Amino acid sequence: AIEFAGVHKWYGAFHVLRDIRLAVHPGERVVVCGPSGSGKSTLIRCVNRLEEHQKGAIRVHGVELSASSREIDRVRREVGMVFQQFNLFPHLTVLQNCALAPVWAEGVKRREAEDRAHALLAKVKIADQAHKYPSELSGGQQQRVAIARALCMNPKIMLFDEPTSALDPEMVKEVLDTMTALASEGMTMIVVTHEMGFARRVADKVVFMDNGEVVEAGDPEEFFTAPRHERARQFLSRLL
Ligand code: ATP
Ligand code: MG
Repeated sequence: AIEFAGVHKWYGAFHVLRDIRLAVHPGERVVVCGPSGSGKSTLIRCVNRLEEHQKGAIRVHGVELSASSREIDRVRREVGMVFQQFNLFPHLTVLQNCALAPVWAEGVKRREAEDRAHALLAKVKIADQAHKYPSELSGGQQQRVAIARALCMNPKIMLFDEPTSALDPEMVKEVLDTMTALASEGMTMIVVTHEMGFARRVADKVVFMDNGEVVEAGDPEEFFTAPRHERARQFLSRLL
């Protein structure tokens, strides 16, 4: 479970997260949407300490992230992240990309890490691409490698930051299908996306952010059919 309790963050004088209160329960799928610059990426980057908040508390599995302890490193390893830009290592094969962190960060034996990578590449339906380099793959395939790579660390939570925004339209579906499959296995997920079809089908909760605030958080069907706030209505009318 992830809990934001009155979280604030500033970039210098700029107040980017304002009193965020939000709970994500085990197995829950949360979609975060909102205008550009509203703080969506900052919010999820705080969960794995790519960014630090200054006020309030973020707890992951009950461990408060601002405390300094070995437990935080463990918790961080339980949080996988997939970015808009796939961030694969260009000089490593698909298989090596997937096995790298388990071997170097976790001390897993190479053979074991590669077996696991093969299994996860099969799961995202690109087992046959294991020995290619990222540049030899389509964008959709590269993003599925990025998902498999994150899964190789056995995360309990997966964060996605606009995972399909850099993809050609015909490749969006294969990545969303992969994410839908992950959701159906019970993975706890926070997904920043403008794919409202995905949100409607998969999310348990939709969070709408504007200007560093969570303006609305609730049931997807309610959000899409009857958003309570004017800012959410405006946002949706521009999207749909
Ligand atoms: P987008 O939809 O464009 O990805 P977002 O909702 O993810 O937007 P963030 O990337 O979280 O927004 O940024 C929120 C605000 O914080 C923006 O105004 C941005 O310019 C600002 N910001 C982001 N990163 C930094 C930084 N490292 N230093 C200063 N300001 C930043
Ligand atoms: Mg962003």
